[in-house]
Amino acid sequence: MADAEIKVTNFIRNIIDADLAAGRHAIVRTRFPPEPNGYLHFGHAKSICLNFGLARDYSGACHLRFDDTNPEKEEQEYVDSIIDAVHWLGWDWNDKLFYASNYFQSMYDFAEKLIEAGHAYVDSQSAEEMRASRGTLTEAGKPSPYRDRTPAENLELFRRMKSGAFPDGTHVLRAKIDMASGNINLRDPAIYRIRHAEHHNTGNQWCLYPMYTYAHPIEDALENITHSICTLEFEDQRPFYDWLLQRLAELGCVSTPLPQQIEFARLNLTYVVLSKRKLIQLVDEKHVNGWDDPRLPTLVGARRRGYTPAGFRKFAEMIGVTKSDSLIDYSIFEECQRDVLNETAPRRIAVLDPLKLVIDNYPAGQEEECLAPNHPQQPELGKRAVPFSRELWIEREDFMEVPPKGYFRLFPGNKVRLRYGFVVVCTGCDKDDAGNIVAVHCNYFADSQSGTPGADTYKVKGNIHWLSAQHAHPAEVRLYDRLFKVPNPGAERDLLEDINPDSVKTITAQLEPALRDVAPEEHFQFERHGYFVADRVESKAGCPVFNRTVTLKDAWK
Ligand code: ATP
Ligand code: MG
Repeated sequence: MADAEIKVTNFIRNIIDADLAAGRHAIVRTRFPPEPNGYLHFGHAKSICLNFGLARDYSGACHLRFDDTNPEKEEQEYVDSIIDAVHWLGWDWNDKLFYASNYFQSMYDFAEKLIEAGHAYVDSQSAEEMRASRGTLTEAGKPSPYRDRTPAENLELFRRMKSGAFPDGTHVLRAKIDMASGNINLRDPAIYRIRHAEHHNTGNQWCLYPMYTYAHPIEDALENITHSICTLEFEDQRPFYDWLLQRLAELGCVSTPLPQQIEFARLNLTYVVLSKRKLIQLVDEKHVNGWDDPRLPTLVGARRRGYTPAGFRKFAEMIGVTKSDSLIDYSIFEECQRDVLNETAPRRIAVLDPLKLVIDNYPAGQEEECLAPNHPQQPELGKRAVPFSRELWIEREDFMEVPPKGYFRLFPGNKVRLRYGFVVVCTGCDKDDAGNIVAVHCNYFADSQSGTPGADTYKVKGNIHWLSAQHAHPAEVRLYDRLFKVPNPGAERDLLEDINPDSVKTITAQLEPALRDVAPEEHFQFERHGYFVADRVESKAGCPVFNRTVTLKDAWK
């Protein structure tokens, strides 16, 4: 990957460097552990680039692990889309693809070991009683009346829980730690609960499921993960993570060195929401058109929008990782995308708001070719022919009957260069009965063609793009804007009230002939307009549909 060279150090790299120097680990192993209960979003991309990037830079491994311990919310559709998204971002896990649910038996066996060693007990209080006895930040919790059940009693109950003898909610298995701990997460947290639910991977094999906080450290340890990187909200869970793995190591269940949990600040980005719950609401209530709506900050949406994997990786490198929460401006993300697209996207001409320009002194029926460079900074990409004829399309905003000061484009009496073509002088315009301008007239200077001797004798300030009307073809183009009109959606009022009512405008544009047969997902710069991509879902051979990825400049500043 070309962007592998950019290595910025950060506190996680410092920890890893120290571990390697001290001989604590010989190989670095990280993991990306999504729960398959939704589509990945831009925040996940940060975590993916971090974990896979570390594995790449330290010649280690990064596992893709589906954290599928919750039977009720998980689906194969999400598994498939997560696999696609990580690959699309440019990362590979080789053969290191895992499912937490494949460890259910080990997790269960370890729980029996904990029970036998007196580190866990079956609690038969109701959920409410447990909540009430947990205490508060300032007050210690109260021990459950079942806390002193003997290991034999606990083991028997736990086995009956597994065999389906009890309905949901009647018993839980709790770690036996310290009901007076200053950290509430250590006040005998629940580690197993009864759920008579079918699981997408294990079917009806289990009616007893591990809690995430119990399952996750075990998954890491069984996979010999060295650095288990997660977001800051898990900081208070780290003591339990360590407690559990130390107990399990003592019992011979897992091997050392144990994985180390390291927390970093999650990505927060202006103008978007990065929470599965809110994204699900936007999709379910049809405020957008599905998970891959180009306005959504999902990775499937980003792909349709035309954002590039290299742009995501660049963004991840640029923002880095820190320990303190921050809000990143969306324009930084867009700038990274622009940087990548500026280098890679060929230039093409599109007229988004077409108005006729008639060259009265150009013979009807005649046509010739002008040559337009495919990329101004990369001459090796060559030029392509763009047909020129008597009737052209220009942008409506490139003509004004009465120009304001500083307007250098077409107005009666003014000269402009038709980019890569001729210089013309405007002679007037036609209007319909309602007074709308329907065509502009001009004369051209036959000796003014771009690149020919003498072309420079015409001094003009305006340089506009155009297309031959008979050669251009119409196509649907979607001009996307931000989905929310405020930087922090939902902060001041209901999220839905912050939706930008003009987040997409669908137009019929005129495109140059070279834009007719394009492959889905091909990127282009439409000159003077921005970067566009052929929609991967709706584009058909000979009939492309384009999405605007990002404008040329930040229009929001
Ligand atoms: P959400 O908070 O949107 O519901 P999640 O954290 O529940 O997402 P998971 O599938 O559990 O989603 O996340 C997989 C990994 O991605 C976790 O390691 C999590 O820390 C990380 N992650 C999730 N959101 C962000 C974010 N905004 N920035 C960075 N990493 C994130
Ligand atoms: Mg989460």
